[in-house]
Amino acid sequence: MFENTNYPKAKKYWYEGKFYDWASPVAHLMTHALHYGTSVFEGIRAYPTDKGPAVFRLKEHIDRFEHSADVARMKMPYTKEQIIETIKLTMRENGMQSAYIRPLLFYSYGNLGLVPKACPVELLVAVWEWGAYLGEKADKGVSSYIVPWRRIHHSQLDMKAKLGGLYILSTIAGLIAREKNCDEAIFLNLEGNVAEGPGENLFVIKKGILKTNDRSESILEGITRTSLLEMAKDMGLKTAVGPITRKELFGADEAFFSGTAVETTPVVQVTDGSDAGREAKTYTIGNGAIGPITRQMRQAYQDVVRGKIARYAKWLTLVNE
Ligand code: PMP
Repeated sequence: MFENTNYPKAKKYWYEGKFYDWASPVAHLMTHALHYGTSVFEGIRAYPTDKGPAVFRLKEHIDRFEHSADVARMKMPYTKEQIIETIKLTMRENGMQSAYIRPLLFYSYGNLGLVPKACPVELLVAVWEWGAYLGEKADKGVSSYIVPWRRIHHSQLDMKAKLGGLYILSTIAGLIAREKNCDEAIFLNLEGNVAEGPGENLFVIKKGILKTNDRSESILEGITRTSLLEMAKDMGLKTAVGPITRKELFGADEAFFSGTAVETTPVVQVTDGSDAGREAKTYTIGNGAIGPITRQMRQAYQDVVRGKIARYAKWLTLVNE
């Protein structure tokens, strides 16, 4: 019934203690989370290494997962260790060498009032092979569109949480960008500065300095972002953290998205559609091609996640151990 065309190599998913064939649905359509987005989730990746598949920064992802559940007032029915073991088990069950890993905790079937008093909290773990999130252009660089809708402000919600319902904003932004023939969206924050992509953080590079923003600019401080900042410092690159103005983005020598799904993806063009009443204007970043520091960071990240740099082995959890 459900083909796995867009979920390559997905065979079984784990749901509440059991494995199910990918094609077999188990949830009711009156599931609370389907109606109100009352779920929290993580996006994690595993990569092949010399020691078998390894999950990148699994502990940090599960810490954030627990925090998201707290924010959503969901009582986590599993310990961190149980979730980690379940993820490893699901990787093994599917025979995955590399994968995108999606744990989802949600209010399930019970009642449909906004307060899910009769809905149990349930856990799903799914894995599949997800290639470059923004397609083949990930190597050459993508175009981006600054959407008119602003990022939710950090005073309105805890931006450290990944809450299912919030992501409809990301879906809308992503669809607007594609309507405008761009590859991905960018949100401004309420202050009018550059915030982030729908599922990615943003770095800009000017005169050799790698810069990104932080939670005070209403972003999710991604685990990839934090890893890249640490790696860049270790590589002897200059880094800065602070607000990124639109002007800084348009005038950057290089820019790239960072995130578990996109990894590091160069941004080579930005169209400013942030003012819906005015005609959008397009800017080329640098010379319109992937720049040297982006290339360097991209390579370093690929090496780190594949366990090729001993210093960062601490960030990997071996699936078969
Ligand atoms: N911002 C948003 C809104 C996201 O959804 C994500 C993906 N989790 C990121 C940034 C990047 O976070 P990470 O590097 O932890 O994947």
